[in-house]
Amino acid sequence: TSTLPGLDASKLTITRADPTARTVPDEVAACSGNETICTDHMITVSWNAATGWATPELKPYGPLSLMPTASVLHYATECFEGLKAYRGHDGGLRLFRPDLNAKRMLMSTLRISLPGFPPAELEKLILALMAVDGPKWLPRDRPGSYLYLRPAVIGTQPQLGVQAPKEALLFITASFMPRMDAPAGGMRLHTNPEDMIRAWVGGFGYAKVGANYGPSLLATNEARSRGFGQILWLYGPEGFCTEAGASNFFVVWRTKEGGLEMVTAPLDDKLILDGVTRRSVVELARERLKGEVEVVERKYTIDEVIEADKEGRLVESFAAGTAFFICPVSQIRHREHDVHIPMAKGESGQYTAKIKGWMTDIMYGNEQHPWGVVV
Ligand code: PMP
Repeated sequence: TSTLPGLDASKLTITRADPTARTVPDEVAACSGNETICTDHMITVSWNAATGWATPELKPYGPLSLMPTASVLHYATECFEGLKAYRGHDGGLRLFRPDLNAKRMLMSTLRISLPGFPPAELEKLILALMAVDGPKWLPRDRPGSYLYLRPAVIGTQPQLGVQAPKEALLFITASFMPRMDAPAGGMRLHTNPEDMIRAWVGGFGYAKVGANYGPSLLATNEARSRGFGQILWLYGPEGFCTEAGASNFFVVWRTKEGGLEMVTAPLDDKLILDGVTRRSVVELARERLKGEVEVVERKYTIDEVIEADKEGRLVESFAAGTAFFICPVSQIRHREHDVHIPMAKGESGQYTAKIKGWMTDIMYGNEQHPWGVVV
């Protein structure tokens, strides 16, 4: 297959939409609708096992055409990414570490037997879409605003045999999303029901495949009906803390020896998503909180969290991901236990606030940093 055409962003063709056909909503309008509002354009690239990747096309946003027998509709041959484009306070338009999203999408794509591509080409396509739609949808007079970018790959072969699809489609949309700022009073987490786990060793929890999300909604809805925002996903009889909803999860506590530790689940057993936000938190905290807080990636259990709470050693907790960004966690309910996490000034703990501030500065151009990639 190495002789077949690979994904090549330099071949991108551009068909412009009528610029007056779609208007940029104000945030309130975008929040109230049931439909995600996308920008004027999208990018699509089709793939065929016999001919390789076709020419990427940037064209007006609109429906895709699929046969009812398409692989994705039956066998969940789908994976996706999620990242934001930020309009900076310096006027710049930036993506945050898009190379990591592109590499992660390649990993997810290969996990479901869809065709590989050079991640740098996907990154170029994402930048190309923002170069066209960014100026209108993230105007310079709206610093601090952002768009949500959703690249995805699906198996499109119209064949019901259970097999690796011989046809696929990569597409990228950009959408206008309401602010998902930290819920007032912090995020409240409920642990998963014992008979519903998100991922398992040997499974695919580490990949950003659609198959990880649909089945998680049942537990999330149950938690919501009890007044909680997200599920804290535990794993195994030990009750290892893994992720909070579709975010990674961090706890800051004092160890029994008295040191300050920031702990989060490890990547090695492939249970959790290697979040771009998680990785950035770990790297920034190791660099900028050196000597003050030790950052540890290790397995830790809900019982350790409960014990730390009882002994007054719990300092802070937060969820980290693109959607909710850095979101303080104020409460965790696990069976008969209720853990209340301190939040300074009722907003967030000091380390949570520091990390959020550093990352915001990079995203919105207050700090020039290699992680902020200018469109
Ligand atoms: N875990 C899961 C299950 C997710 O879906 C996400 C969102 N992509 C994250 C964690 C956070 O990852 P990121 O920081 O890359 O958004």
